Amino acid sequence: MMKASVYYRKDVIRYEEVPVPELGEGDILVEMKSCGLCGTDIHKAQHQTVTGPVVLGHEVAAEVVKVGRRVTRFRPGDRVVTAIHVPCFTCHDCNRGHFTLCEQFKRTHIEPGGFAQYIRLPELHVNHLTHLIPEGISWEKAAMVEPIGCCLHGLKRAAITPGCSVLVMGSGTIGLLSAQLAAMMGAGRVMVSDLSPFKLDLALQLGIDHAINPAEEDLEARVREVTGGLGVDVVVIAAGVSALLPQAISLLRRGGRVVVFSPFDHLPMVNIDAGRFFRDEISVIGTYSLSPYEMPEAVEIIRRNRINVEAMITHSYPLSQLEEAIAFAANPQNNVLKVIIKME
Ligand SMILES: [Zn+2]
Ligand SMILES: [Zn+2]
Repeated sequence: MMKASVYYRKDVIRYEEVPVPELGEGDILVEMKSCGLCGTDIHKAQHQTVTGPVVLGHEVAAEVVKVGRRVTRFRPGDRVVTAIHVPCFTCHDCNRGHFTLCEQFKRTHIEPGGFAQYIRLPELHVNHLTHLIPEGISWEKAAMVEPIGCCLHGLKRAAITPGCSVLVMGSGTIGLLSAQLAAMMGAGRVMVSDLSPFKLDLALQLGIDHAINPAEEDLEARVREVTGGLGVDVVVIAAGVSALLPQAISLLRRGGRVVVFSPFDHLPMVNIDAGRFFRDEISVIGTYSLSPYEMPEAVEIIRRNRINVEAMITHSYPLSQLEEAIAFAANPQNNVLKVIIKME
């Protein structure tokens, strides 16, 4: 038996004994060291969009403890990162590069989930999603590989070019990773917005050029000022508020792109200035999760310290306190950005 923090329903997560998963010949068993608490984990737990009992968590950094008979890529003692969904690489969507739309994608899972002592990585994950953690990289930092991959996935389609301007709406983990990655890709002016002074301060510490609080100043006026009245080339929406979409569109420069990287649950119907598509050739791009190709790219970004992830990790909790961790992270009153769950 092993320990896991099992989600049953809102505010009911039990730290309990569950069976250690059985290994197939191509699978590996890893011991979780750090697993990031993702906004989607918090969302699932608070809005009950999944039915318990289930073990959440997918931003896993772990040590290999056992390998199936046919496994040659890894051996016990290896430090690895992984993700949760694997596409089939052969269907209509995969053939067109839309790996995250693949019908197999959401059916593939690690077992039982990241918030457990031991995790079985099925053969597909072993072959396509699992990578060695570079030497000298801490477990906490390695747990940031998966969210970095997700942000890369969205930003690639935004076609960031050297010197272009970027506004990220929402300065949570995804927002601040996206802002840093945009700068890494050569963006000239990077702005973030958020209602939390704590997150805006953090953004400035991370080297983001402008951190704007829309409750205190006129976002549109500030964007106009920074961009010489032209608007931004790319807006990334990293906050689950659909009302941000019309505003994002109005802030775009001609030819600009909006990347929507957030579940919009509440009031999903919005009115946008649709004339801008033809008149100004703007685009709105949706993005979700990451493809296997973003994993090694994210590992490389961590290995070369291309962005600052240490400063983004504000809290860590032991696996036994997942419920407390979620309640703390979900409370907008708290000064918290990334929470990492650790095996004690
Ligand atoms: Zn995530
Ligand atoms: Zn496919």
